[in-house]
Amino acid sequence: MIDLIFLGPPGAGKGTYAKELVKKLGIPHISTGDMFRETAASGTELGNKIKEIMERGDLVPDELVNEMVRQRLSKEDCKEGFILDGYPRTVNQAKALDEILRDLGREVTAAVFFDVPEEVVVQRLTNRRICPKCGRIYNLLTMPPKEDNLCDVCKVPLIQRDDDKEDVVRRRYKVYMESTLPVVDYYKDAGKLHKVDGTLGIDRVVEEVLKIIR
Ligand code: AMP
Repeated sequence: MIDLIFLGPPGAGKGTYAKELVKKLGIPHISTGDMFRETAASGTELGNKIKEIMERGDLVPDELVNEMVRQRLSKEDCKEGFILDGYPRTVNQAKALDEILRDLGREVTAAVFFDVPEEVVVQRLTNRRICPKCGRIYNLLTMPPKEDNLCDVCKVPLIQRDDDKEDVVRRRYKVYMESTLPVVDYYKDAGKLHKVDGTLGIDRVVEEVLKIIR
């Protein structure tokens, strides 16, 4: 069983590395951010509330996130492991996750922290573009689409996430520093923390993570 947690500021590349590792490890990539974006787009009352929180760059309340993760990790496809991306973001969530996993008779294998400075994050995220159809991630500077602003696969125009605008990115980074750095210490104290330099290229970062698992 490989129960992995990816930690690091928004823009550290967690989603990108996770997608590569899914191919190599055959375990699901679970992104709470993606799950909330889906809920936010649903047009329900809950969805609208979450949309507002996300547009401010703030965090969704712990109870809501914890319950959503509990349900997701209980699903059949998580039997061999999972990569959690964007969760836990607070110590309260980290404790809840320990409890969720204990109830399932398992525990965190490793927490991988991808270290990236604020200015790199701002540069990466303000240049990030996404295909609204297949979810493929591009970067106008480092991973541009072949044709101007069109998805290589779907050929539909790429979009920018509302929370990838510079002021919101800086706010998310600040929120991250305040609430998530204690989570890093939490896993350090548990002897489960592994640091990886998130400014290395994708291939090298993925290689580092595979080394940690082995
Ligand atoms: P992300 O794509 O991981 O940057 O998440 C986008 C937004 O979703 C965050 O800015 C939060 O508003 C919300 N979110 C995602 N994961 C969590 C979490 N574990 N706890 C609270 N809010 C979250």
